[in-house]
Amino acid sequence: MSTTPPTVEHLLSRPYGEWRAAASQLAFETRPFIDGAFLDPLCDAAFPSVSPRDGAVLAHIPDCGAPDVDRAVRAARSAFDDGRWRGLDPKERKRILLRFAELVVEHAEELALLDTLEMGKPITESVRIDVVKAAETLAWYAEAIDKWYDEVAPAPRHALALVTREPLGVIGAVVPWNYALLIAAWKLAPALATGNSVVLKPAEQTSLAALLLGRLGSAAGLPDGVLNVVPGRGETAGQALGRHPQVDKIAFTGSTEVARLFQVYAGESNGKQVAVEAGGKSPQLVLPDADLAAAASAVAWGIFYNAGQTCNAGSRLVVHRSVKDELLARIVKTTEATFTVGDPLDPATVMGPLVDEAQAQRVLDYAELGRREGASLALGGGRVAVAGPDGEPLDGPYLQPTILDGVGNASRVGREEIFGPVLSVIDFGGGAEEGVRMADDCDYGLAASVWTRDLATAHRAARALRAGTVWVNTFDASDVITPFGGFKATGAGRDKSLHALDTYTALKTTWIDLG
Ligand code: NAD
Repeated sequence: MSTTPPTVEHLLSRPYGEWRAAASQLAFETRPFIDGAFLDPLCDAAFPSVSPRDGAVLAHIPDCGAPDVDRAVRAARSAFDDGRWRGLDPKERKRILLRFAELVVEHAEELALLDTLEMGKPITESVRIDVVKAAETLAWYAEAIDKWYDEVAPAPRHALALVTREPLGVIGAVVPWNYALLIAAWKLAPALATGNSVVLKPAEQTSLAALLLGRLGSAAGLPDGVLNVVPGRGETAGQALGRHPQVDKIAFTGSTEVARLFQVYAGESNGKQVAVEAGGKSPQLVLPDADLAAAASAVAWGIFYNAGQTCNAGSRLVVHRSVKDELLARIVKTTEATFTVGDPLDPATVMGPLVDEAQAQRVLDYAELGRREGASLALGGGRVAVAGPDGEPLDGPYLQPTILDGVGNASRVGREEIFGPVLSVIDFGGGAEEGVRMADDCDYGLAASVWTRDLATAHRAARALRAGTVWVNTFDASDVITPFGGFKATGAGRDKSLHALDTYTALKTTWIDLG
């Protein structure tokens, strides 16, 4: 029997039946990964990992509390203090992180399956985005770290003043479930490259893939204790990490509500740094001179990709009244033709289930609220019956792509993050300035787009919009080379790009008297 792992190219063209066969062979490791090994948890409590694909219980995940978190933080602290990782030459850290990236690709099948079974993402997207982009992120920071120079300050002639960057210590990385591997990699890669130790706390919905990541880091050569993964609920494992006095920084991505709890935990414990990347309600602003065909496709993909469970989902369409009807008709047509809801293990599926029943119910409640607030349903609004391979119904939270038309900018469905496949359509009748003002009239500031053929209007809008990313005539174009994060209630953290390296280091001045 060949032990060569299937390549990414092979996985991207693999048929439905083969994915189902591979899924049935999976074994699940649930124990926390601490100090280089899977250890029996100290906690007794556990919670089921229920697949939104069909309601199957995949495994029982330990609900690690303060004692397990403390073991992991102590392991991370020792690894940091004795210099076994930060003391290595940058070239050596690069070599190990490059190997980590290779191992992620070699385990693409297993990682993608865990991601898909745990949170319902279509399997092709789990391979293409979560696994491949996570590996690319690890490799990018690995390659960056031996090309990153410190500074010599313009000191007086009798002195030499060096400004060097030092790792912070123990990083608590707390991540959501929607891009479980990719967002974990956005934190781990710059934190590890700069010599920190990490304790990763995955979301309870996506613990299994994160635990495998811990083992792969170790197999790549990360010294014991440098990367630890502790599963558990937010209120138990997450809170214990946020309050631990030996953690130097929390790197958090998730909801605005929980982000603020981490700021409280920090203030009530050791004043650790907290970097926050939280929610969004990103506008797509379409002006009358826009290319409507391109805009319609981008709006549909911008909201329905990943079943709308994307922090920067373009969930608010702010469109000029003169082109609204035509644009909306095109969006509906594209959505109906493209977003087939189905079994996430089927490569033909474009939209899988929502992450869990609670999230689906929340989304349906918002659709209902929208109607009560005066919006009309232009598409969807309900559940979809999905059949498995033999025609049997799949017991999962499958929803229709939904469009609410006539949404008021001050209404709750116009302002609150729904985090599901619901587009709120808001129109305006004035000039571009009015559109920009309405698009920007939102508590969040993660991303925005503007659609116009006029260059000056595009620049003016991009300057005026208070969002961490502004796209012009495109949506969701991204790469590890540019920073990602937000303004306003989205928080002030930034992942990706070389700037992320700064966020895991502190500056040190060494002033030398030359006599
Ligand atoms: P969440 O805030 O519920 O959970 C995020 C993490 O915090 C999880 O690991 C969870 O276990 C933990 N947590 C939850 N309650 C906690 C508590 N009381 N104490 C300590 N930890 C706790 O978010 P989610 O449902 O996993 O993800 C969806 C949210 O994430 C959305 O708001 C989305 O916009 C946001 N998000 C933001 C970005 C970004 O880059 N800005 C990216 C992806 C997702």
